[in-house]
Amino acid sequence: MGTKKRMYGVNNAFGRRLPENTALCIKEVFGGFYSHQCTRKRRYGKGKLWCKIHDPDYIKKKDKASQKEYDGKYKIWKEKNRRACLIEKLCGHISTNKLHMYKLTLKKRFRLSFS
Ligand SMILES: [Zn+2]
Repeated sequence: MGTKKRMYGVNNAFGRRLPENTALCIKEVFGGFYSHQCTRKRRYGKGKLWCKIHDPDYIKKKDKASQKEYDGKYKIWKEKNRRACLIEKLCGHISTNKLHMYKLTLKKRFRLSFS
């Protein structure tokens, strides 16, 4: 088992791949047509090999958080869609004019508001 140094850089100013800087995060960062080793100091994750934002645990946590946010938004959207479908089912056969009149009546009688 060798402790081969990692190599970094595609299309960089030196025209060749550069050996790992062992003080820096091990992530290879890509920007357009070139790449380089991450320039942040390593101090996070297993073996303290990553910077904060490239720490695999941090990335996992972030992914989980955004998944949670997405799930929440999807739940709200689904509920809104369900209601819209229900309204369509209940009122779809009623003409727009009549529906408008019903709305006005309900508004007057029950002080209900519609969007
Ligand atoms: Zn990094």
